[in-house]
Amino acid sequence: MPKLVYDFIEGNKDMKDLLGGKGANLAEMTNLGLPVPPGFIISTDACRHYLAEGIVPAGLAAEVTEHLRRLEQEMGRSLGDSGDPLLVSVRSGAKFSMPGMMETVLNIGLSDASVQGLAKQAGNDRFAWDSYRRLIQMFGKTVLDIEGHEFEHAIDEAKRAKGTKNDLDLDADDMKALVDTFKQIVKTRTGSDFPQDPREQMDMAVNAVFDSWNADRAILYRRQERIPSDLGTAVNVVTMVFGNLGPDSGTGVAFTRDPGSGQQGVYGDYLQNAQGEDVVAGIRNTVPLQELEKLDPASYGELMQIMQTLENHYRDLCDIEFTIERGKLWMLQTRVGKRTAGAAFRIAVQLVDQALIDIDEALRRVDGAQLAQLMFPRFGDTAGAALITKAISASPGAAVGKAVFDSATAVERAERGEDVILVRRETNPDDLHGMIAARGILTSRGGKTSHAAVVARGMGKTCVCGADQLEVNVAAGQFAAAGKDGQLVVRQGDVISIDGTSGAVYLGEVPVVASPVVEYFEGNLDPAADELVSAVHRIMTHADKRRRLGVRANSDTGEDSARAVRFGAQGIGLTRTEHMFLGERRQLVERLILADSDDGRKAALAELEPLQRGDFVEILEAMDGLPVTIRLLDPPLHEFLPDLTELSVKVALAGDKATEKDKKLLEEVRRLHEQNPMLGLRGVRLGLVIPGLYAMQVRAIAHAAADRIKAGGNPHPEIMIPLVGAVQELEAARDEAEKVLAEVAAETGVSGHTLIGTMIEVPRAALTAGQIAQAAEFFSFGTNDLTQMGWGFSRDDVEGAFFGRYIEMGIFGVSPFETLDAEGIGRLVEIATTEGRATRPDLKVGVCGEHGGDPESVRFFHHAGLDYVSCSPFRVPVARLEAGRAVALEETGGSDSR
Ligand code: ADP
Ligand code: MG
Ligand code: MG
Repeated sequence: MPKLVYDFIEGNKDMKDLLGGKGANLAEMTNLGLPVPPGFIISTDACRHYLAEGIVPAGLAAEVTEHLRRLEQEMGRSLGDSGDPLLVSVRSGAKFSMPGMMETVLNIGLSDASVQGLAKQAGNDRFAWDSYRRLIQMFGKTVLDIEGHEFEHAIDEAKRAKGTKNDLDLDADDMKALVDTFKQIVKTRTGSDFPQDPREQMDMAVNAVFDSWNADRAILYRRQERIPSDLGTAVNVVTMVFGNLGPDSGTGVAFTRDPGSGQQGVYGDYLQNAQGEDVVAGIRNTVPLQELEKLDPASYGELMQIMQTLENHYRDLCDIEFTIERGKLWMLQTRVGKRTAGAAFRIAVQLVDQALIDIDEALRRVDGAQLAQLMFPRFGDTAGAALITKAISASPGAAVGKAVFDSATAVERAERGEDVILVRRETNPDDLHGMIAARGILTSRGGKTSHAAVVARGMGKTCVCGADQLEVNVAAGQFAAAGKDGQLVVRQGDVISIDGTSGAVYLGEVPVVASPVVEYFEGNLDPAADELVSAVHRIMTHADKRRRLGVRANSDTGEDSARAVRFGAQGIGLTRTEHMFLGERRQLVERLILADSDDGRKAALAELEPLQRGDFVEILEAMDGLPVTIRLLDPPLHEFLPDLTELSVKVALAGDKATEKDKKLLEEVRRLHEQNPMLGLRGVRLGLVIPGLYAMQVRAIAHAAADRIKAGGNPHPEIMIPLVGAVQELEAARDEAEKVLAEVAAETGVSGHTLIGTMIEVPRAALTAGQIAQAAEFFSFGTNDLTQMGWGFSRDDVEGAFFGRYIEMGIFGVSPFETLDAEGIGRLVEIATTEGRATRPDLKVGVCGEHGGDPESVRFFHHAGLDYVSCSPFRVPVARLEAGRAVALEETGGSDSR
């Protein structure tokens, strides 16, 4: 076994895999000379071993003993000593921060004997017994699996007996009594006494931290945040420092910048005479960090300096935990802090302006998912809206939904398709399910650093917190607010709107409008007018400069195409033609299918052609000068016919009076019915089987292009044949198309070269791409069908049926329809690209499946050497950004510098 335990001075911030984020950063701060209580870290190797084998690695105990002995020497005290005990915290800390998801136990080393020593050393009985009851409480919950509310209930009882609501009113005797009660709870629930041996306490706590890696809420959080499940957690053993020693002590959390807006300044909460979790748990009201300047100017000054040091060192927003023990400041944690999407863009650009990072690094530090979030709509005119209250804007966005008051209801209603807002006094890690299900979160307590705020920001979910004017009654399923006409009561199911950008809460539904970032992409907003938009503009401009990959859009209409161009599309990668056969035109398709003579069919096609031509003119005009890939008809014909059951019923009910047309139609619908339409008569098969269909479409395209040229335009249509599996299919379709193109050129006197290519969406096509490229001037990967046919499952049938289970079982981390399965389907893409280009070096290769707008997939397509991706117009900016990031990340081996 390699070395398993590291002193803080042995680590640094780049060792997160081994030491976890918390440990690596404690080590980094120690080596920066900041005041960190000494301690050591048990590596993630030990955790992985424990999780796999069920026991800790053989050498662990001895290594811990050695590091503990060194720590005791340094501190001049030994763990749990009855005269002057060294106490430690045992803290979880994985590679990726999982706020509140795993466990920590404070005050390890206290016992019936050492509590006396601690009291004497500190000269403070209340403090010592408060610390002891905290240990039993946390140890009971975390290590012994006793329900937390048993302890909380006992505290509430003690407060009630005392006639107070404030824990500070409980004195030393009350704490002593609580310790007795807590020990009794432990005895009743576990059948054993609370362990008195300090080392036994420590070892049990370490194992409990290992185990907390696989707690339900940790698993759920990892799935949500796409954190791999096999990393394990490190364990930090840290000398205790005490914020609960009296009013000259306290504990706090802070950010070096506002994680909501990115503004530089002092953001944090402080709580006097308190320990650890008290700040975020909302047991008492915290004060803004600025107040510390009055309470303890020396510590405040030192803290400000340290925050500056950390910002400059990490070159990013940091969040920190600190404790003040009798006027002495201690740093307990730091990490590069989570932030909103808007703050991510703003901070990245601010750091460039401060010369702390370069613009490439700024590009690496934002991502497409964040950009997508900034494109969500927000509340428009709120003048007429019924404002209930205004509170802390914790995570931006506009959310509208029905108020619900517990997570189970949130999940249940969301599953029924309802939009809900989860309303709580405060949230805790057990609310994660409900938070995921809700559109937004509203709490009446806690500030920007509360659990609700931190987790919501991480998920990109709208959150308003600290709405302390609201009286939230979870049991009754309602909240009350003082309105101008007396009290306003909002009950479960009533619609509310919450604005995570302003902190406003409204009764009823407030209409939404486009975000400023979308207005900017639309060209309606000067980037200089808004700090966020200007940050987006600078990073997007740089992404465009860096990227090699082209970005096109999937668009079927002139209007969408025009928007795509405004959003930066360099062409259309996919125009579907099927919608051009719907609506009133359905009649014509029916006639085409029912035609019993060549003439009848030709007549139907002849009527369709000018309509198609009009559609194409519109798109080619919107995309003047840019390539437009037009896919010939793909779906099976019966999709254009009436539904089999409906038509059967209609004909049956009409009996003898059924029309000839309906009877014939029914016959055709029956004849065309397919067991597996996805694998049936569609794509190029249709083009080869229905005479004249593809020829009509090609003629419409050619005429539309000629019309545009005559009107002074510069059209670049490209003809794309779908669902080809063999080169012979493509050759047949191509011969026909070329013939038509030549005819139209002769007719109109306008000629030009029209590219003819194919979709690669059948695995056989990918595997014979070398042959297919002989007949194709371009490939476009239809990764939706390629995924369906590659995996052998049809999306509509399987996504709802078992994907949830598959993701739970870790068969895939994310749906392969969302992010391209790089190993399997991606390999088909790589093979086809390489072999296609071997045949035809100037082969143009793109992708037009939905993956073309997925951040991770875009980076994959970059690496696979594609020429462009094509996605829906709204995803075009995301694809541009990620294409640029792919280049910037490539140069650093895939990571940013933090
Ligand atoms: P989390 O990851 O949930 O924040 P932590 O391990 O950071 O858990 O610890 C929980 C709380 O206890 C934090 O507020 C932290 O600052 C505090 N804490 C942890 N270790 C110590 C210590 N050695 N002395 C004082 N407070 C501590
Ligand atoms: Mg912490
Ligand atoms: Mg397809």
